[in-house]
Amino acid sequence: MVKKIIFIALAVLVSFPLLYLPAKAKNADPPDLPDSDLPENNGVYPVPGHPELKLHVLSHPARGSRPAKPTPTPTSAPVLNCSLEDPDSSSVSGVTGWYLPPSFSYLLNSSSVPASVGAENLTWIAQNGYLQWAEALSGQVSVSFAGQTLSTRARLDGQNIITWGRAASGTLGVTYIWTYGDGEVAEADTIMNKGYAWSWSDPDTWHGSVCAYPGSYDAQNILTHELGHWFGTDDDYDQEFENNTMYGFGDVLETKKDTLTNGDITAVRSIYQ
Ligand SMILES: [Zn+2]
Repeated sequence: MVKKIIFIALAVLVSFPLLYLPAKAKNADPPDLPDSDLPENNGVYPVPGHPELKLHVLSHPARGSRPAKPTPTPTSAPVLNCSLEDPDSSSVSGVTGWYLPPSFSYLLNSSSVPASVGAENLTWIAQNGYLQWAEALSGQVSVSFAGQTLSTRARLDGQNIITWGRAASGTLGVTYIWTYGDGEVAEADTIMNKGYAWSWSDPDTWHGSVCAYPGSYDAQNILTHELGHWFGTDDDYDQEFENNTMYGFGDVLETKKDTLTNGDITAVRSIYQ
């Protein structure tokens, strides 16, 4: 109860200054500045003014730390490659020590989605991603879509957002998790790096194959991984985890993280026992 009151008070305080911003935001995009108040490197950080919280930063690097390239304008529609594999793995992913409350909701910034992914697809991509984890827990945690946001930046504001935005070079996606002292998640934000070329291969159309578009990073593949962090699973970088959804590196022409391996499922279940 006390936590809830603190959290609501915090949300009201932080959102109050936003009342003055819309006129400005209508005329121009927000400036493309780094989050000066939030760290970009993996780690655990104190939250100034909030001794009851800790901030955890988890970034998802491109394999080989491939630098971001400007999204090329395709001269013809990319051809879906359906010769990929989605091997299972029994290697049990690590856990972070935090957990979601029984009911959690998120906001989407569909206006931030690259045209090559399609703004209209974000609700499906997010839903496919969180359902992987929620179904592994047989509905123990309910995660729901709560509407749209225009925010492209992670910040402690009482809103859990999924957006494309600015992230450090070499990072495909970065997830910010604020936790209470007992490990319960207070807030979660995921930023997909707009500097990379993105695509989305809809798993509902695969018909028994595993497919992805060449030369780009699949939004489902990376977001399902990032949502794993919301639920409390950790990155693993050893080779034995390379088929896990929680494998730390992401690659082009990869959609095997769309679905969980047995090792990912065992890990997330261990958190909510
Ligand atoms: Zn990660």
